[in-house]
Amino acid sequence: MLRTHTCGELNRAMVSQQVVLAGWVFSVRDHGSLKFIDLRDRSGVIQLVCSPGEMSPELVFRVNQLRDEWVVQVKGTVVLRPPETVNPRIPTGEIEVKISDLLILNSCQTLPFELSSPVQTGETIRLVYRFLDLRRPQLQKNLLVRSSFVHVLREFLIEEGFAEIETPMLTKSTPEGARDFIVPSRLNPGRFYALPQSPQLFKQLLMVAGYDRYFQIARCFRDEDLRADRQPEFTQVDLEMSFVDEDDVMSLTERLLHRAIKKTFNVELKIPFPRINYQQAIDHYGTDKPDLRYHLTIHDYTPVFQTSQVEVLKKALQAGGVVRGFTVAEGEKISATDIQEFDRLVKERGQTGLGWIRFRQDGLQSPLKKFLEAETLQALRPEPGSKNTLFFFLAGAREKIAAVLGELRTTVAEKLYRLDPYDWRFCWVVKFPLLEFDPEGRRWQSRHHPFTSPFPATIEALDGKPEEITSRAYDLVLNGTEIGGGSIRIHQRALQEKIFEIIGLPREKYLKQFGFLLEALDCGAPPHGGIALGLDRLMMLLLGVSSIREVMAFPKTQKGVCLMTGAPGEVDEILLRENRLRVELPQKSEQ
Ligand code: ASP
Repeated sequence: MLRTHTCGELNRAMVSQQVVLAGWVFSVRDHGSLKFIDLRDRSGVIQLVCSPGEMSPELVFRVNQLRDEWVVQVKGTVVLRPPETVNPRIPTGEIEVKISDLLILNSCQTLPFELSSPVQTGETIRLVYRFLDLRRPQLQKNLLVRSSFVHVLREFLIEEGFAEIETPMLTKSTPEGARDFIVPSRLNPGRFYALPQSPQLFKQLLMVAGYDRYFQIARCFRDEDLRADRQPEFTQVDLEMSFVDEDDVMSLTERLLHRAIKKTFNVELKIPFPRINYQQAIDHYGTDKPDLRYHLTIHDYTPVFQTSQVEVLKKALQAGGVVRGFTVAEGEKISATDIQEFDRLVKERGQTGLGWIRFRQDGLQSPLKKFLEAETLQALRPEPGSKNTLFFFLAGAREKIAAVLGELRTTVAEKLYRLDPYDWRFCWVVKFPLLEFDPEGRRWQSRHHPFTSPFPATIEALDGKPEEITSRAYDLVLNGTEIGGGSIRIHQRALQEKIFEIIGLPREKYLKQFGFLLEALDCGAPPHGGIALGLDRLMMLLLGVSSIREVMAFPKTQKGVCLMTGAPGEVDEILLRENRLRVELPQKSEQ
């Protein structure tokens, strides 16, 4: 080893010990008779002190050459700092190392940006020099916490009897609702592998093969539009279990997160997590990813407006619609300008306008004031004693207004509260519809993936009313973001074939694409189910950062480009020829 200790592990108890350290020069300060160097490695920073008067000319020469980010090995003695120079902000702030020798291991060119002030540096340049960006203590912390978290996950799952098994990267399409990334096969001209959107089918086959409990920290690939919480390749904590029902998978996941969060963040999660039915989530929060850090619960007010003479409301109710809304008890925190902004939002989402009533002790305000009946107001009036209560509402088709109210609820909450990213509110959303209607394709499609089992009680509906089939799927939500999902699977061939038919897959197509799965289900497949957690998103939320790029070592841009390596790149003509590929780029005018 080039060192006896790391910088961060030195402490007061080691005073007068001889140590050898290696690391990067973080900064150099010249005080004339003394020179101070901050030496950094992954574990922390230690101050080195050199007094040129006591050093050989050659050593002085070497020390004088040092610049930021040069790599050095130093020998020295741990000493206490004089009391007036103690730095309580860093763990090694009580001591320093008086150097007796220094070896330059490598130099460093002038950096394209300062590591100590990343905020002023644009993200593009930081991604081009990601290897430098990754030296920043904040990023190092994120990746190291992620590493410890994964370590605990592995430990827990192994204790629970899971086997870690890898599944192929070069495979066939697994439908998870995104476009596949494809890889040409040189040995089979004209044929392509798909990179896995998830290990879904393989983990099910491992259950058929009798492995009982599988897990994998699995890389998945989905070619879809990217956002702050989406990357083309990402990591899932993927698991599958045999002979289980929903409660088993959900309770295991709760214990897994409880352990990992306790060990990594020293926070005790309250388990079990609340469970919310899909329809309840849509009705009360306007979304199937509810943020439970605040209330602002949406309720039905249709009966209250039943006899309303307000034209828009009358029309909506006659068309079979509903009136739904929510109340803000802290109305004084919402200004008239805020309300205009909310009104704009709902109009952008296709609504005629936002209904609102402000109840104050000295009277009420509302654009509909003249038209509202006494009974309506009586029914809506807040508790006596409340000073300023705002009631927001929309009228229209139930499903349509739910999403708009959900968005409004989030926008209002952002205005009202300073939401704490470390107030972790997990919940399960269950009892999803199995299928949804795709108006463009004019056909039913799976809400999760087509291997999700319907509830036995709703299987009869398969033959007539697909909209009434409920699935055995469960989604895990944290503070308004979906961080995982899974289901109990179909384990019988006949039912699996029936689902393929309902979603409009012709027999020859599903036999070609999923024949191996159907065969396997026919060969004694056990009942099974599982879940996958999005590790990047989960770490992003737990670390309180706003992008998954902050928790991944080498992320890509919104356009799927790695600015450091230049991927995706062009390939050699020979390689194209070997793969029997010809590239036809669109004309400029077509682009
Ligand atoms: N394969 C699913 C997904 O990636 C998760 C699961 O059903 O286990 O969302």
